[in-house]
Amino acid sequence: MKVSEIFESLQGEGPLMGRPMLFIRMAGCNLSCEWCDTKYAWEGGNAMDTGQLVDIISSSELEYVCWTGGEPLLQADEIIKVIKRTMHKRHCLETNGTMPIPYGHFEHVVASPKDLCEDPPVNADFYKFVLDGDASEFEDVDNYAKDHSIEREKVFIQPKCSESYDALEAGRRFWELCVKYGFSLSPRLHIIYFGSKRGV
Ligand code: SF4
Repeated sequence: MKVSEIFESLQGEGPLMGRPMLFIRMAGCNLSCEWCDTKYAWEGGNAMDTGQLVDIISSSELEYVCWTGGEPLLQADEIIKVIKRTMHKRHCLETNGTMPIPYGHFEHVVASPKDLCEDPPVNADFYKFVLDGDASEFEDVDNYAKDHSIEREKVFIQPKCSESYDALEAGRRFWELCVKYGFSLSPRLHIIYFGSKRGV
């Protein structure tokens, strides 16, 4: 398995925001979003075997494990092998939603669709949309949610940002629009507090 980084931190995004987790950032992605703030995870990474990951997860005091990337599902088979050996933990997944999401292995799956022309992925529990903040983008997400019968409480809106000031400024702009459309705001706590620092 190719792993970009492993660290313990608080979840800064989505429905489990604020919860302590062990983050495992898998290397490699099948997209190349211009605004991506984890471009360092697109390539490289440390080669690790499933046993090493099982040991790291088991030795963590934290209850939650968050598989993220990059696109972690590029290495889905290996991840599932690790999960099967660490069933005492609560495994979460963050995916761009372009690959089949395996059913029954993750307690929480947050998919972040990038192309609203595509159908939402099957087996996602929550949806995170990363926006610049134009009112028209919110309208597009609103239509997408309606067209695909996605309940409001499953929709999280997140600003495109990698610096503290930008995250705060975007959050203020997004606030009213989230209220208007009934979406939850995912302000990116780690960016607000630490900017582009890695490992948080
Ligand atoms: S899908 Fe996620 S990790 Fe991949 S390029 Fe886009 S933002 Fe970055």
